[in-house]
Amino acid sequence: MRLLLLSDIHANLEALEACMDAAPEFDKIVNLGDVVGYNASPNEVCERVRAMGGMVVRGNHDRACAGLSDLSEFNLIAAMSARWTQTALAPEHIAWLRELQQGPLRMEALPGIEFVHGSPRGEDEYLLSAPTATLDFNASEHIDVVFFGHTHLQGGFTYNGGHPLYFTPQYEVGKGVLHCTMRLLARERYLINPGSVGQPRDNDWRAAFALYESDVGFPGTVTFYRVPYDVQAAQARVLAANLPERLATRLALGR
Ligand code: ZN
Repeated sequence: MRLLLLSDIHANLEALEACMDAAPEFDKIVNLGDVVGYNASPNEVCERVRAMGGMVVRGNHDRACAGLSDLSEFNLIAAMSARWTQTALAPEHIAWLRELQQGPLRMEALPGIEFVHGSPRGEDEYLLSAPTATLDFNASEHIDVVFFGHTHLQGGFTYNGGHPLYFTPQYEVGKGVLHCTMRLLARERYLINPGSVGQPRDNDWRAAFALYESDVGFPGTVTFYRVPYDVQAAQARVLAANLPERLATRLALGR
């Protein structure tokens, strides 16, 4: 089974299209949430994500933009973009967002793997530190690999009972689409973030996603990707929508 892992697309149509053009062959898509919020193409992105099928885990921005929670947890800019998204979204996409399931989600064909937005312990938890990772590894003892999003940072944690180790993919320097494969080890457990398609925050502006392959020897491999895309076009849409300028400038900075 080859799973295309997308997360935190955040209504960035140009980034999503570049990732789909760069994507290798896959059997199924798993989307780890935050389809909308921040950027200016929520309807176009919802349309494409719905057409792709596969599994979609709800993200905190999906929940807020669908009106399922208030915006009190959001900073000013996130709240402004969520309010804009609520008015921009077509009713059918709002209805679809409202039906998305909160993680953790699983797939029958892949026992031992879990899909979440924030972490196994919560949709809104940022999995950024080793102490938090320890709590999450302990909360999902029977799970070998958790795929998560929310932090917009490509990489994650490995664990074999000691101190969780943080890792990021190590790419060769180069132009065009880059990828980097990591073989998973049976004696380790993993928390893995494919990175953010539409608003990376690891100081790399290129759109991020990953491919998980289970049939290349247990427990499989994860290949991380970075994809250049038309940032200027995405920024122009943000500005044309009168969204906060910071949402446009951060795209080019990857922060
Ligand atoms: Zn997000």
